[in-house]
Amino acid sequence: MRQAEDVSSDTLSGVWTDLIGQDRVVEVLRRAVDSRAEGGNTRAMTHAWLFTGPPGSGRSNAARAFAAALQCPSGGCGECNTCITALSGAHPDVTLVRTEQLSIGVDEVRDLVRRAAMSPTLGRLQVLVVEDADRVTERGADALLKSIEEPAPRTVWLLCAPNAEDLVATVRSRCRLVELSTPTNAAIAELLQRRDRIDPVTADFAARVAQGHIGRARALARSEEARNRRAEVLQLPVRLVNLGACLSSAAQLVEAASADASAVTTELDAKERAVLSEALGMGATGAKPRNVQAALRELEDQQKARAKRLQRDALDRVLTELTSFYRDVLIVQTGAGAELINVEQIDAVEQVAAASPPEEAVACLDAILVCRKALEANVAPLLAMESLLISLSGIA
Ligand SMILES: [Zn+2]
Repeated sequence: MRQAEDVSSDTLSGVWTDLIGQDRVVEVLRRAVDSRAEGGNTRAMTHAWLFTGPPGSGRSNAARAFAAALQCPSGGCGECNTCITALSGAHPDVTLVRTEQLSIGVDEVRDLVRRAAMSPTLGRLQVLVVEDADRVTERGADALLKSIEEPAPRTVWLLCAPNAEDLVATVRSRCRLVELSTPTNAAIAELLQRRDRIDPVTADFAARVAQGHIGRARALARSEEARNRRAEVLQLPVRLVNLGACLSSAAQLVEAASADASAVTTELDAKERAVLSEALGMGATGAKPRNVQAALRELEDQQKARAKRLQRDALDRVLTELTSFYRDVLIVQTGAGAELINVEQIDAVEQVAAASPPEEAVACLDAILVCRKALEANVAPLLAMESLLISLSGIA
């Protein structure tokens, strides 16, 4: 992944302001917006776009900014009602699809396709932003393909995915590709200071350890608890001295990840349940006809899937931190001279580096990869983490 060259840019304004280090992308999108305003007959504009980029690079932000700019009478001023509602998802002609589920099924896609076929009510276009297009199921992709192949005249699809290869070739080949690059640490630190009012020292630290992930950098900059938890994870490699330590650490990590998930879901679950109950007309009597029970069960299933995904995301962050640790160990061992990510943990890094050969650090990196794949394949989180920590400890 190439690194963006620009640290800060004077040219970003309006809806594009926060798309740091993406000057080339912004230029392409702006040209499309301009050509649209001039009648849309140039090749700069098209009806299906695919935004790709590593997690945290801001691909969905770029798609949303583009959606707003396409609707805004001034091409994305960032201040008018059109821009504000389009960015927040409240604009009637901008549909934002974000999912906490592991997949986007065919029914959901069919709803979108129906919406895509409708004429815009207020805006100039009907814009559909699908944030996790890589999660669209195969049958969903078939339904999507038809709409992309024979688009309604004023419909624009904006799909987002980590990689172009995450979409089936038939859909991919009909989209114009917009590739976001990993923002530099300096650009992220600057954004944290400007947008989130983070002090320079914390902003620099958060940008360095987040390794190009803007959302992660922001979370670390804003939460001392998040910073402390990260520091604890990075102590694991020197603390896994016996089997007991491995097992108890694995249990703690999984518990903390569930706590992270329920911090997000508890309130949300209750709210969704209340909304659904009301929609189904369940009175104070609490009577539940069979179809109501089925609808509630379906909601519960979706909520369970969401909690599971959030827990997995939290464990994935742990794996990312551990990866950065062993990367630093390798740098120290090989004298490669690259900058360390975990400067604050230099003692632990040097301790591990001195105690084992580089082959062992490489084996640890492999073990982390295996664990990540196991979690993706729905192996029980506790088993996956136990197995990882035992591998890292070198006692097995
Ligand atoms: Zn505007």
